[in-house]
Amino acid sequence: MSERVLRGTRLGAASYETDDTVEVAERRWIPYDCPNGHHFSLPLSVEAQFPLVWECRFCGAEALRVDADRPEPKRVKPARTHWDMLLERRSIADLEEVLAERLAVLRARGGVEAAGGPGPTRRKSA
Ligand SMILES: [Zn+2]
Repeated sequence: MSERVLRGTRLGAASYETDDTVEVAERRWIPYDCPNGHHFSLPLSVEAQFPLVWECRFCGAEALRVDADRPEPKRVKPARTHWDMLLERRSIADLEEVLAERLAVLRARGGVEAAGGPGPTRRKSA
């Protein structure tokens, strides 16, 4: 019984906080400019290398360090994919219609598996 009382008596008596948590590296407020007009600063350790870009706190865009130049002439437009080109000609509603038609044709042939869809094995007809 007395053993139980002893156990834990020191909990909380000693501080587990080390000096490490108190003595943090010197910090500097590094200003960033967002392409969408936001400005914010980050408290960064002077020992660290300040990142050139940082995600904007307001909109998530790539904010640029104020005293820096763009590392490269802003990322080139990503290449258009077939999907992008398709979307320029067709709306999602159109595509869904085409897809439904196509699936109907494949189901009629019993070849949906070949198209990667669920097979007609589950139910013959509702
Ligand atoms: Zn922003």
